[in-house]
Amino acid sequence: MPGLSITLQDVTKSFGSEAVLKDINLSIKEGELVSLLGPSGCGKSTLLRIIAGLERAEAGSIRLGEQVVDAVPAGARDLAMVFQSYALYPHMCVADNIALSLEMTELSALQRLPLLGRLLPGSRAIRQEISNRVRQAADLTEIAHLLRRRPAHLSGGQRQRVALARAMAREPGIFLMDEPLSNLDAKLRISMRSEIVDLNKRIGATFLFVTHDQSDALAMSDRIALMMGGRIRQIGTPQEIYDSPSHLDVASFIGQPV
Ligand code: ADP
Ligand code: MG
Repeated sequence: MPGLSITLQDVTKSFGSEAVLKDINLSIKEGELVSLLGPSGCGKSTLLRIIAGLERAEAGSIRLGEQVVDAVPAGARDLAMVFQSYALYPHMCVADNIALSLEMTELSALQRLPLLGRLLPGSRAIRQEISNRVRQAADLTEIAHLLRRRPAHLSGGQRQRVALARAMAREPGIFLMDEPLSNLDAKLRISMRSEIVDLNKRIGATFLFVTHDQSDALAMSDRIALMMGGRIRQIGTPQEIYDSPSHLDVASFIGQPV
């Protein structure tokens, strides 16, 4: 899974008269784990949804790797999203929840993937490939023993792993994660942090991790993009942001006096 870079140029978005994103410029390198950190309501989810193609920017452009994706539909972008709510189907077992994300991937996206691209949709071979990928993603996230369970019979941490496995099965170049740890208790949250970092380093995909929690961002990131009021206020390593906040409001959000 080679990581893809993400390049945002002057991305702007309003809802009605409210300017929610103001000239966002951001470059994320292949394989990097970047946190988008900022208080609730500052525009993080909107930016993530625009990158995913679930929402359209009014102005500006988005490149994933070398490709400008402004006109590429969500299902055909080489990325997977992990939500806070996990968004698992309650009537389906874990394996089917993971497989469904592959079945729903647009054919154009599947065709870019090695092996699957050479197969016919609906064929026995493609079903075999889907089941191999479910197994592989479950092994990597250590949920192979849970594949026949329904989400109601899983703990919060297990559901989180299923949501990660579902994203991984698509073998995307980019993972977009919107507050994936928010529903976990403190202890689990800390262990999931290092699991996500390990996963990033192991598979080499690019991770953009949204959080309002400074300690998540400081603990996990290669770099932090600090967002406030619809703007990126500062971008740097956790050390740089912590030691040298660019503005007073950044400093008070991070919790350090200047
Ligand atoms: P965050 O994820 O940082 O908490 P959001 O991106 O969800 O912030 O929201 C940023 C701002 O945009 C908020 O003021 C929110 O109310 C507004 N907003 C988000 N989505 C919509 C929408 N679909 N319609 C109208 N306003 C929205
Ligand atoms: Mg949000």
